[in-house]
Amino acid sequence: MRNVLFATSEAHPLIKTGGLADVSGSLPQALNKLNCDVRVLLPYYQEIKNKLENVKQIAQFSVSGHAGTISLLETRLPDSEVKVWLIDYPKAFDRPGNPYLDEQGLPWPDNAERYALFSKAATLIATGQIIADWKPGIVHCNDWQTGLIPALLAQQPQKPATLFTIHNLAYQGIFSRETYLTLDLPDYLWSPDTMEFHNQISFIKGGLVFANIITTVSPGYAREIQTAEFGFGLEGLLKHRADKLSGILNGIDMDIWDPANDPLIEQNFSVKTLKEKQKNKTSLQKEFSLPVENDTPLIGMVGRLVQQKGIDIVLEALPDLLQESVQLVILGTGEKKYEKAIKQFATQHPKQISALIGYDETLAHRIEAGADMFLMPSRFEPCGLNQLYSLRYGTVPIVQGVGGLLDSIVDTNTQTQKNKTATGYIFTEATPDALLKTLKRAIETYKKPQTWRSIARTGMQQNFSWEESAKKYIQLYEKAATL
Ligand code: ADP
Repeated sequence: MRNVLFATSEAHPLIKTGGLADVSGSLPQALNKLNCDVRVLLPYYQEIKNKLENVKQIAQFSVSGHAGTISLLETRLPDSEVKVWLIDYPKAFDRPGNPYLDEQGLPWPDNAERYALFSKAATLIATGQIIADWKPGIVHCNDWQTGLIPALLAQQPQKPATLFTIHNLAYQGIFSRETYLTLDLPDYLWSPDTMEFHNQISFIKGGLVFANIITTVSPGYAREIQTAEFGFGLEGLLKHRADKLSGILNGIDMDIWDPANDPLIEQNFSVKTLKEKQKNKTSLQKEFSLPVENDTPLIGMVGRLVQQKGIDIVLEALPDLLQESVQLVILGTGEKKYEKAIKQFATQHPKQISALIGYDETLAHRIEAGADMFLMPSRFEPCGLNQLYSLRYGTVPIVQGVGGLLDSIVDTNTQTQKNKTATGYIFTEATPDALLKTLKRAIETYKKPQTWRSIARTGMQQNFSWEESAKKYIQLYEKAATL
């Protein structure tokens, strides 16, 4: 049971597009510390190839429906003991750029084939057919790219238990029947009870139907996805499997995101030296060419510029928001229309808004360290990591009350201020009006530095380390093995 095959399509710091990479980089380390023996299984993307020097080939094999040989390579997750196994199949993975999208931002046309190959390889490894002396007791699968693994394992005689984690139900891996027919999959997978979804094939359904246990990344999101509003058409299936579905809040890497030791920020600080945070604000204002104003609240945003994250709500609220004495720094990439609108606002209001359209890990740290407030108006948020980083850096989160945001932030009101549990600000409607009202509430409190710092300190003292979450996963691994 202690052998865990952790199949994922991204893992920090090797390859990252979002929160899944953070989880895949941290959870296996936490599991190892609790005496698990984890192998992280990843595609060998070009970006990984460029980063790694020490990889050794440990096996060669092929899978049905795909000509050519797969090499299984072994390395370690940088700066850790965690072993990583890489599926090397150049035709599928040795290409530049994003793992899922081409240069135009469109899904790679052969995504179904790429992740079917990955999942077939995972299935052979999981059943000990490739590496005879290491067999997993559990295969932990993540998101649609790995959904075929539980589905393919289902009919294997000697199979490990499976746990499937939903990191974001919006991405399901849906492909046409024609594509399905090219994948050389067993017939039992084409049925409404299995992976068929309105006459198409849904990779995520493989996980949701066949995994022994399903988890998602917050208890709130586990409840929400059983409703039509958040279920993307899969709410019925998830309700049906409700007794196997639960939510475990993600942790954060407490070493990487540690304001007291973060090498990427201007000035280190802790709960005790919170006032030092100011130096990071000054440095951030300079870096973003904003006027250096100590007393003007500086709002930070980092993330994908897509509708899920409520960036359109921010854009609608901006004309009114800019009437307030505030500054805003934005770091993100995403849909071109949002990137363009943000750049336009920044050009028109250079003293109040500054944006960097791009992906920049260092800058993300510097924004967390330098901003006073962090805005996350997500329409839905399975867990969300940035609000957790914000808490750690004394940057008060202002969030929409959904999913993991609601599970991790305590709204500031008379009661929560009195009992010192307040950590942020929550609004409950995804509208510009609700966002503005809540931001104004935060700005009012910001004018009282002592009260503000007390809220920030409470946030900094929250514990979102991975250890507790990893223990919960281990309990579920054990349960999965009995089902
Ligand atoms: P999601 O996985 O939905 O994108 P999360 O909040 O769970 O959102 O995780 C996003 C992760 O990606 C965080 O670690 C965040 O800091 C990082 N991130 C997103 N966009 C950028 C960017 N443009 N530059 C740097 N880091 C980013």
